[in-house]
Amino acid sequence: MQSSEIKRYHSHIMLDGFGVSGQIKLSKAKVLCVGAGGIASPFLYYLAAAGIGTLAIIDGDTVSVDNLCRQILYTQNDVALKKVDVAKAKLAKLNSEICIEVFDDYLDMANAQALFRRYDLVADCSDNYRTKLIINDVCVAGEQPFVTASARQHKGHFAFFDGKGPCYRCLFDELDVQQEESCHEVGVFSPVLGMLGSLQAIAIIKFLAGYACAFNQLLEIDALTLQQKLFTLQINKNCVLQHHSAVRHEVVPEQQVQFVSCLKSLHRKYQLIDVRSLSEHNQRNLGGECIPLENLATYFAKVSPTECIVLYCQAGKRSQLACEILASMGFKEVYSLVGGVSGACSCCV
Ligand SMILES: [Zn+2]
Repeated sequence: MQSSEIKRYHSHIMLDGFGVSGQIKLSKAKVLCVGAGGIASPFLYYLAAAGIGTLAIIDGDTVSVDNLCRQILYTQNDVALKKVDVAKAKLAKLNSEICIEVFDDYLDMANAQALFRRYDLVADCSDNYRTKLIINDVCVAGEQPFVTASARQHKGHFAFFDGKGPCYRCLFDELDVQQEESCHEVGVFSPVLGMLGSLQAIAIIKFLAGYACAFNQLLEIDALTLQQKLFTLQINKNCVLQHHSAVRHEVVPEQQVQFVSCLKSLHRKYQLIDVRSLSEHNQRNLGGECIPLENLATYFAKVSPTECIVLYCQAGKRSQLACEILASMGFKEVYSLVGGVSGACSCCV
């Protein structure tokens, strides 16, 4: 380590349990931040300041005036500019010694798997359930640790998952992504986002520097009462991701279960299957044939396993199970539609 680095990171190096070795570990670490908004703003500042070797940011949005009240990475002069470009320029001014990679894009199932493999840790700084579930599912598939946080009005939630289970889906069984409310609709107290970003930075810097970390706990903070609650999370046996990895690996090799968030993103011929009941299908569907989950194995026993199959249900839980069933039967190209009928984007409805 050079003397300039020792000078720069002196306050961390002096800490018990951190030392020079902790700083060297940070300089070799690669962290991916999904989203560049209110939680990401303080998070990215702290990680850049701490000397994380490679800091990557993915976000496809531009800065708007209504962001400025909570996304403190940006100023009035940045309005209409790409968030990742502004973020990169600001963070490079703070620390020119680190590598900052940016992706002007939104995270989806198609880009997440390859992207996540390039980094040691993933930080969920997104503001919507669809993205949170993608991060969760890809991290759990690769047993990759990740931090996640979300805020609503005066309350915030933070968790650091080890990637082996429990997970985000263990908490929220069948998320109806359509009922999701944005900060715009319900409001959010912006300093809460600052607390959450700082908590994520604390967790990641601690982990990378080699401190003992408490995984799989959910911290709830209430800015009005200043009360904090800490919950120890347990694996939900109904969680669709089935955290008993030995069983899961035996039945379904991970790479065969894939997700798709929009049917239009699959640029190939596929068979669309609704795995809900016929009555659910008749009420509202996204097209395709209705083969209820319990009849799936019988039906597909006669179908060539080279076919590309896209499965959907109400919220994505049954279709993922269906995906695993078909994968165990030898199908190589099976996709589960993230969010199902409830979460379908406008072009899939
Ligand atoms: Zn789970």
